[in-house]
Amino acid sequence: MTETATPARVPATRFAVPGRIAVSEQAAAVWQTATLTGIRRETPHASTFRFAVPDWAGHLPGQHLLLRLTAPDGYVAQRHYSIASAPDGSGHIELTLDHVRDGEVSGWFHTTARPGDTVELRGPLSGFFAWPGDRPALLLGAGSGVVPLMSMIRYHRALGLDVPLRMLVSARSPEELIYARELGAETAAVFTRSAPAGVPVGRLAAAHLAPLLAERPPGGWEAYVCGSNGFAEHASRLLVQAGQPVERIRIERFG
Ligand SMILES: Cc1cc2nc3c(=O)[nH]c(=O)nc-3n(C[C@H](O)[C@H](O)[C@H](O)COP(=O)(O)OP(=O)(O)OC[C@H]3O[C@@H](n4cnc5c(N)ncnc54)[C@H](O)[C@@H]3O)c2cc1C
Repeated sequence: MTETATPARVPATRFAVPGRIAVSEQAAAVWQTATLTGIRRETPHASTFRFAVPDWAGHLPGQHLLLRLTAPDGYVAQRHYSIASAPDGSGHIELTLDHVRDGEVSGWFHTTARPGDTVELRGPLSGFFAWPGDRPALLLGAGSGVVPLMSMIRYHRALGLDVPLRMLVSARSPEELIYARELGAETAAVFTRSAPAGVPVGRLAAAHLAPLLAERPPGGWEAYVCGSNGFAEHASRLLVQAGQPVERIRIERFG
């Protein structure tokens, strides 16, 4: 579910990143066959699944898609997943899935899916949580909520953008921190259950946000918050209390 207090700044029907990818709503309405080409373990409970989607029309960082599995007896399960990869025109996209206990779709991916398997996808969906790379962005994520934010970071790096981008992520432990190997100087992590020696254990707090908000980039921060309902409430409340305008907080809830 996506929320924003502002009208979407990105047109909902056609996205245009200068010189790059245009996506129409029409393309997002069509189910496409995606072939699983690779699986990469990220943490003990999360893996990245890479798909070839030859007719993928492109996406903006932060967008998600609808994935459909159909059983031999015709039973269908559909779930939303954020797109982890940056738009790159390669005809491939990546999703990162947490293995939810007894989860129907995530369980299939983590226990059964093999390269060569096919699924159906429809997207990209929702321009509200998209970041076109044109404004300073402050990213707050917890657990698999880091997935759409990683797409933004990858895009920022791939294009060599100099617009400020900062990320604060919350994970249970360093082992559970998705994309740990890829995170760079733009990211700070908060650990809620166990942390490396010398690093305090605790929830995201005002003290973590204060130095980032104090940077005051030209034009101000656009905040993107993603995670469970609980995290989204907590993080957005902290942002508002610290003075971030409520209409410049975009929220994506996985709950
Ligand atoms: C916009 C959007 C983007 C999303 N992006 C991602 C993503 O990038 N990566 C990702 O891993 N997930 C993402 N999700 C969550 C995803 O859609 C599924 O809810 C999740 O994979 C569980 O589906 P399942 O079929 O495995 O479990 P289900 O069979 O639906 O549920 C099994 C059990 O787990 C509980 N449960 C369901 N969902 C969750 C959850 N998220 N956390 C904990 N318990 C749960 C249910 O209450 C139930 O008891 C996103 C959700 C939304 C709305």
